[in-house]
Amino acid sequence: MPGRNEGADRLCPVCSAPLGLRDSGSDPDHGTDHGPDALVDALQASESRFRAAFADAGIGMALIGSDDRIIEANPAFAAMIGHEAPNLVRTHIHEIIDPEDTPRRLYLELVRGERDRLRVEKQLKHREGRVVWSNVTISLIRDGAGQPMYTLAMVEDVTEQRLLGDQLAYQAMHDPLTRLPNRTLFFERLNAEFGPGAEPSSSGLPRSLDRGPDGGDDFAEPRPRTGAAEAADPTGDGEPADPGRRVGLCYLDLDGFAAINETLGHHAGDELLVAVAARLEHGFARGDGQGNGPGGGRLVARLGGDEFAVLVCDSAGSEQLTALAADLIKLLAEPFHVAGQQLAVTASVGVVERRIVETTPTDLLKDADATLYWSKADGRARWTLYDPDRGAHQLTRQRLATALRPALERGEFTVEYQPLVGLADGTVHGAEALVRWRHPRYGTLSPDRFIPLAEESGAIVPLGKWVLEESCRQAKRWLLEFPEAEAFVSVNLAARQIWDSDVVADVAQALKLTGLPARLLQLEITESAVLGPGGRPVQALQALADMGIRIAIDDFGTGYSNLAYLSRLPVHVLKLDGSFIEGFRDPAPGGRPDSRFRRTDADEQIVGAMVQLAHALGLTVTAEGIENASQAERLRLTGCDTAQGWYFARPGEAERIAAILREGRVRSA
Ligand code: C2E
Ligand code: MG
Ligand code: MG
Repeated sequence: MPGRNEGADRLCPVCSAPLGLRDSGSDPDHGTDHGPDALVDALQASESRFRAAFADAGIGMALIGSDDRIIEANPAFAAMIGHEAPNLVRTHIHEIIDPEDTPRRLYLELVRGERDRLRVEKQLKHREGRVVWSNVTISLIRDGAGQPMYTLAMVEDVTEQRLLGDQLAYQAMHDPLTRLPNRTLFFERLNAEFGPGAEPSSSGLPRSLDRGPDGGDDFAEPRPRTGAAEAADPTGDGEPADPGRRVGLCYLDLDGFAAINETLGHHAGDELLVAVAARLEHGFARGDGQGNGPGGGRLVARLGGDEFAVLVCDSAGSEQLTALAADLIKLLAEPFHVAGQQLAVTASVGVVERRIVETTPTDLLKDADATLYWSKADGRARWTLYDPDRGAHQLTRQRLATALRPALERGEFTVEYQPLVGLADGTVHGAEALVRWRHPRYGTLSPDRFIPLAEESGAIVPLGKWVLEESCRQAKRWLLEFPEAEAFVSVNLAARQIWDSDVVADVAQALKLTGLPARLLQLEITESAVLGPGGRPVQALQALADMGIRIAIDDFGTGYSNLAYLSRLPVHVLKLDGSFIEGFRDPAPGGRPDSRFRRTDADEQIVGAMVQLAHALGLTVTAEGIENASQAERLRLTGCDTAQGWYFARPGEAERIAAILREGRVRSA
């Protein structure tokens, strides 16, 4: 600072303007004349007050010149860092405080007069080498013309609070038994991996407990990012993480830990957990756990009970993770010495590894949990890598079940139709309505994926009602377009629709609503849905039949196949299950008997007998699952009435049925 010297720490006691060396009220730099006597008295009184306040203050104080050297420090400040006050004069502040980029920049702004105050939390260097945490408030002192002269630092020792805070934070973030990072810290680190929104604190502590060394309320800018946060958001500009970055997780659970607890006592159980934790930490917590290590940091955490996790930041691929899982298992296979005995324990591990942009912390953990469960289910003492197909299957089971009803409201279901073809002339008699779920995420789902779920949850009742109405509406359109064809629609009814809802009223309403004559509606019911104690289903079937609706028994031959019983019910059609037709192949070459074809013959004879019996009881027969011409031809020879299968047409849009009706025949049978 130009013109500053050793005497410049003196201020005008009247107006507080700096006086410079000249001990005079008429100092031209000062500019204001207070009158000589008043000035001298005031000056002396004020100076001694200031000196006393400075010297006796409990808080550390130091005047610092623009050359960053201490002009004067008080004893409290000197004691804080293990010095005598006079020895600090002309000490460069960087001998006491490490220069750091951001605070340094802000300090220079202060010295240049661009700001008046600065508050920072700083680590001071104690003479004995230890760190002193301090809250520092630095004020700029200006001269009479407003030019910066020097700075006054007030320094408060907060080491104790800080250590206490650290201790509390440590306790909040670590498992007291094993001293491993706990669930909270694990999630904090995991979230940090996933990008800017979830910036971790550099110490791994929550931000509230982690006011860094340069954290102060004058800091307009965020603290410099380090470690994982930097990796997740390398530019620090809030852009999402590098799309190539990957993350991996080994989720580990000891096998049979509960039994150890029960037989040897909780004490032994705890001892074992501590030993396991120590092994895991020694073996696998490579890197610094903050994502700064080579090849990505790792964090070994105890997630609760006997569950541990190894989080791999910046993983190299699933091979790295499965190798790690194998190592984990191997490491734990060595016996443990616990409670005076040797204990052999095994562990099951679920491994998930994927690109960060493709997942979320919640999904990662959920999938790791599912995978761990597969390891257990597949026999324990093993690792399993997450398999999306297996996962999707499980996931969809629960998700689909809850999504069914809303999906129905959103109109995600459609109906496909598969022709029912007369075997005698190849004409289309009608079509079976087969529901599909156009799931926005999983694509088109076949009924086998969701009908059982809908039956379990009861969602089949509204879904079935919708299919019924939709199918009747469609059949009515065919009727209007092809009145001669009299094509009927065959709709599947679930058992629960018959038991749990007023199916008769629903069907009547559907017919009324769509204007479809009852004779063009066929309802397919499985044997198991109507068998059992009489009563409700039989009454319902009777009421439906009385309305003029045809009743078909679906998948006949897979259940009780009690034709005699069925014949007493109001049933009109038997749909032979596709499994009967599977055995229908070409006859043995040259007509020679061949053992390979005995099954074929048997199937044919059974089907032939069933067709005859059904006809004798006044039922017509439809065969399902016809996939080739030979099956169709042989079926025709048995006297079977209608057939359905890929050979004629796969299930498809309603328009395909219309096209076939337009042509008259699907193909010659
Ligand atoms: P289903 O009633 O026995 O229907 C026949 C199934 O066989 C259909 O499967 C059809 O696509 C399939 N299929 C047709 N031709 C062939 C063939 O040549 N070879 C083979 N291997 N399969 C063939 P999809 O559409 O997957 O339906 C499966 C089952 O879902 C149906 O069996 C039915 O029980 C049920 N379902 C379908 N839609 C509904 C519905 O709206 N309500 C109820 N309650 N159940 C339905
Ligand atoms: Mg069916
Ligand atoms: Mg069937």
